[in-house]
Amino acid sequence: MDDQTRLKTIDDFMLNTELPLDLDDLMVILAEAYRVPIALIGIVGQYEETFKARYGTDLSRINREDAFCGHVVDNQTPLVVKNAKEDPRFANNPLVTGEPHICFYAGTPIEINNQVVGAVCLIDTEPREIDEKRLRLLERVGALVSQHITLSREHEALKREHGLIEKSPIVLATWRYDTSLKLVHISKNSERVLGISANDLLSGSVEFSDVITQEAENAFTFAMQAHMEGVESHSCRLQITTPSRTIWVSMISTANFREDGALYSVQAFLFDTSDQKYVEDKLNKTNQRMRLLLEASELGTWDWNLAADINQVNKRWCDIVGIEYEYYDTSSRFFRQLIHPADYVHVEKKLHDHLKGHTSVFNTTFRMKHTNESWVWVESYGKTVETDESGKPIRIAGIHRDITDRMERELHEKKKTQLLQFINKTRASYLESNDLTLASQTVLPELIDISDSQFAFIGQMKGTGESSRLFIHAISEIVWDSSSFTQYAEYKKRNLYFSSFDNLFGTTIVTGEVTISNVSGSHPNSKGVPKGHPRISRFLGLPIKIKERVVGMIGLANKFDAYTVQDAQFLQPLLDALAGLFYAVELEEARAIAEEKLRFLAMTDSLTGLYNRRAFLDECSTVSQRHGCACIALIDVDYFKMVNDTYGHDAGDQALIMIADKIAKHNLAPSVVARLGGEEFAVVVFGETKDEINVHLEALRVAVEESALTYGKDVINLTISIGAAFIEDTFGADFSVLLSEADKSLYLAKEDGRNKVVWVN
Ligand code: GH3
Ligand code: MG
Ligand code: MG
Repeated sequence: MDDQTRLKTIDDFMLNTELPLDLDDLMVILAEAYRVPIALIGIVGQYEETFKARYGTDLSRINREDAFCGHVVDNQTPLVVKNAKEDPRFANNPLVTGEPHICFYAGTPIEINNQVVGAVCLIDTEPREIDEKRLRLLERVGALVSQHITLSREHEALKREHGLIEKSPIVLATWRYDTSLKLVHISKNSERVLGISANDLLSGSVEFSDVITQEAENAFTFAMQAHMEGVESHSCRLQITTPSRTIWVSMISTANFREDGALYSVQAFLFDTSDQKYVEDKLNKTNQRMRLLLEASELGTWDWNLAADINQVNKRWCDIVGIEYEYYDTSSRFFRQLIHPADYVHVEKKLHDHLKGHTSVFNTTFRMKHTNESWVWVESYGKTVETDESGKPIRIAGIHRDITDRMERELHEKKKTQLLQFINKTRASYLESNDLTLASQTVLPELIDISDSQFAFIGQMKGTGESSRLFIHAISEIVWDSSSFTQYAEYKKRNLYFSSFDNLFGTTIVTGEVTISNVSGSHPNSKGVPKGHPRISRFLGLPIKIKERVVGMIGLANKFDAYTVQDAQFLQPLLDALAGLFYAVELEEARAIAEEKLRFLAMTDSLTGLYNRRAFLDECSTVSQRHGCACIALIDVDYFKMVNDTYGHDAGDQALIMIADKIAKHNLAPSVVARLGGEEFAVVVFGETKDEINVHLEALRVAVEESALTYGKDVINLTISIGAAFIEDTFGADFSVLLSEADKSLYLAKEDGRNKVVWVN
């Protein structure tokens, strides 16, 4: 027999305590009915039996081993002992031999949870009988006592639970449904929790509907109606107002239905949630304040549900881009199309990075198109506020701030710095290479960048008046057909000029003013572009001037936005710098021309235009640096003094000019011809042989002899004498020696009667 389980049952039902079972009256009735002096209810514990109800004895407990009821428990059946004195099991039992002198015993089990925990027994001090029928009746009493114990204990447990509820902040209420719902139970704590006495509610002196607000009554009626219609559970919130206070109560109700489906009762828990309501209200107020704050702080807000592709924004968001709030389109396509094309890729990347979880926040700046066609710089800051089960963002919310002013200031500063660097670079490049074309080409890409343009050119005016042309130092490579290709090839050869100024860019040259055209073809001087030429949607022509004189221009085209006077002003330092460089180039060119002139003068004989002595000697030293046969000849006019004396110095000069011309033009080429001084000339004649050259020299002598100078009415005849020296190889030749040798031959020619060619050797 499992005594442990049995003892636990005794424990669970609190039968091992002093608490009586309150069944003494039943014992009186039993004793009377069975005509015995003692009737008891005994619970058999581990060491002793305790009497929970008794009649006819003062004994409250006995030892377990002496207990007759112990036998009932051990055998789990009724026990009848007619005469204990004669029963060997009990004859020596102290309860038989001594007080209370048990002789007769009839006991029946008390069974709880299938465990026999004790017995209901009848005791007499005399031996006696009990018939079967009366024994069965006793057994029946045992069963009823068992049932009583179970029920009373359950009742106590329920009472305890109720007590617990009454101490709790949760009110339990039950409505029974008949033809209407009627409150049949409400826990006592109603007074404490809800401020309404349970008794008042149950008696009907206070109706539940009297203490709740109209709104709450509607909610309450709705809940009850729902249950009547078969809704099993429901929850709502009710505001209860009593004279002492107003509270918010949450009600969770459950409906019980009969088997036929009809509503039987509604049970509800009601608890005070005023604190929660307070927090919620406060949160709402805070949110409201936050909204107001956002509006006041000029922040646009956006809340983009990616799954539904709905982007909710506030009015300020719309204001930033000039959109009427009522006409805002919530699709992402709408706001995407407002993003500046140049910023689009960047924004999408930032968004992608955030959506992929690479960044904790989405934070970037970009331009958006305002309805007035301008661009607004926006700082956007957002964060994922909702994800699906897999952690994928489904909602991002954030703010927009208009930072146009700040950005434009910063960009302007940045551009200013960039421009200065750019100007310095242009200057440095020019100083380094001394090549304005190269310098212009070097900086053209930066010019395009800094001016936000698509195309550009830098040109310089060359020539004056009718022949003035615009030389193109640098130009964007725009080639669209064979003729433009030829032009570009000319440019590559540094040979591209524009000479027609009857067009849009020419306006800048002609007027010397800034030319702005922001609508294609709108300028009066616009001639359109040649077929195939990329469309010029916008144009800015900037004159480069030196003291009001237009010396060149910069042409810019196709800025993303409109060109403005500010753009022109911004680029003015560059124009000034280029003007300076152009000026420097002009000076340089003028200096070179003057130098060339001087050099020419220094080497030329002013009367005849031939080389002078110094130039002749220079040429000779050049000739001495190469190989070849040559002849050096000295030519002297015969009796020239006489010409001067007879016809005058001017006639002499004319004669010198004529002879110089004859020497220069005579077929002696290739040769070097010079007037060494006075009426003496020198030539270097290249030729294979002395004879071959001699033919030429002779021919020259004859040509002079046969010609005559007509001076006024006079005709002057002249002859020349020639002294010539031949040299097989000019390389390394000492021409001063050759000259003195030729001079000696010339002397011989004079001696020999003049008008002769005399060779050395
Ligand atoms: P010869 O036949 O010996 O050479 O006699 P010549 O008179 O030609 O020689 P001479 O040296 O005596 O005279 C040369 C003259 O040439 C002297 C000078 O007045 C003249 N003469 C030198 N240079 C010029 C010049 O540039 N113009 C003119 N008209 N006469 C010049
Ligand atoms: Mg002479
Ligand atoms: Mg002479």
